[in-house]
Amino acid sequence: MAAQVISQAPNARAIDLSRLGREMWDVLVIGSGPAGSIAARQAALRGARVLLVDRSVFPREKVCGCCIGHAGMRALRSIGLGHLADQFSAPRVEQLQLHVGRTVSRIALPAGRALSRSAFDSALLAEAVRAGAAFVSGVVATVGRVDGDVRGLELKNDSESVRAMARVVIAADGLASPSTRDCEEIRVAVAAGARVGVGARFAAEGVIPPNTIEMHVGREGYLGLVRLEDGSIDAAAALDPIAIQAAGVRGCLTAILRGSGGERLTACVAAAEWRGTPPLTRRRTPVAAERLLLIGDAAGYVEPFTGEGMTWAMETAIAAAPIAVEGATHWSAATARLWIAEHRRLLAGRQWSCRMIARVLRMPRAMMLANRLLSVAPALARPVVRHVAGGA
Ligand SMILES: Cc1cc2nc3c(=O)[nH]c(=O)nc-3n(C[C@H](O)[C@H](O)[C@H](O)COP(=O)(O)OP(=O)(O)OC[C@H]3O[C@@H](n4cnc5c(N)ncnc54)[C@H](O)[C@@H]3O)c2cc1C
Repeated sequence: MAAQVISQAPNARAIDLSRLGREMWDVLVIGSGPAGSIAARQAALRGARVLLVDRSVFPREKVCGCCIGHAGMRALRSIGLGHLADQFSAPRVEQLQLHVGRTVSRIALPAGRALSRSAFDSALLAEAVRAGAAFVSGVVATVGRVDGDVRGLELKNDSESVRAMARVVIAADGLASPSTRDCEEIRVAVAAGARVGVGARFAAEGVIPPNTIEMHVGREGYLGLVRLEDGSIDAAAALDPIAIQAAGVRGCLTAILRGSGGERLTACVAAAEWRGTPPLTRRRTPVAAERLLLIGDAAGYVEPFTGEGMTWAMETAIAAAPIAVEGATHWSAATARLWIAEHRRLLAGRQWSCRMIARVLRMPRAMMLANRLLSVAPALARPVVRHVAGGA
């Protein structure tokens, strides 16, 4: 039976949460970022009764570089959603312009697209609802214990709190994954000195070359800028927490830009409203427990560079949905083991490469030398780019 649409309206107060608590859901998905909305859609298309919940009201922004990489576009096409980028006239992204010191290298990227998270996430959410998933916004979910063949949860909005039940829960609630914070089965390890993400969106004519991610690297971290579908600029950075303490977010960004030939951007960066994230690099183990699967950033995260996170979120969602649907009727200890193995198969290699890139980015001399080399021989970057970002 197809799940009913409980709410497409962004008014959380109008929703009777107790109704949700009385139902038994095959699959309950927490978080409607790219991972959660795609998992909910794919599970609903397989005939499961799906409830998707998010604490935010949509459309909402999210700190992100907003580049859907080549592999991310391939993942979208594989489930028939490749048209979304065209629907919004999302600019193509074909080049990484890397500024380190006074050296600039131009590295060809397998084609991706730049699309604001407010547009992309809302479009994916609409697709999940169209496929039959019920959606409720403004609701914070917390994963509870297993009781027999049911995983319990708490759903809470401004005015009430109810216990909900699902055969399988998919936690897709992002980097901090607050829904699994009290889950004894899942351990979280945050990397020492992990960088912090910050992001902003601002209007600025002609400051970024078309079809390009402009990346500035400095001691304090790195800042990427790209033009979005409406001509505005998305800026996202990963910054050293000690540098933030010393100079503040704008101070760090200005220092990075001044040290890498980005002076023309300092005024925009100083005027922009910056939002932050918790420390970025973290590992969650295991990525599955009884009647619980972790996907997207909730399953662990490595510092971003040219847009891997959404690709990983989408790929894990597509792979987890059939496992969740099958698990809703026939859960066994093997189901959790299957997801742990599948998650490792999908991501372990690429996450290792990103960790290595993040390490080099923290070595200013090595980075400067590497960029000098790339400025004269950009093709040297091709194997790494292909491995991390996908492409022919
Ligand atoms: C600085 C920076 C730059 C980046 N640049 C790029 C880039 O260019 N390209 C790219 O592909 N990736 C990039 N990323 C990574 C990308 O943003 C993430 O990997 C991606 O958003 C992960 O998607 P997700 O669906 O797992 O989680 P999210 O997109 O974080 O979605 C999680 C959702 O869960 C909801 N939620 C949280 N807690 C609860 C709760 N308890 N109950 C209910 N709902 C809850 C939130 O409201 C949110 O909507 C970047 C990240 C950073 C920090």
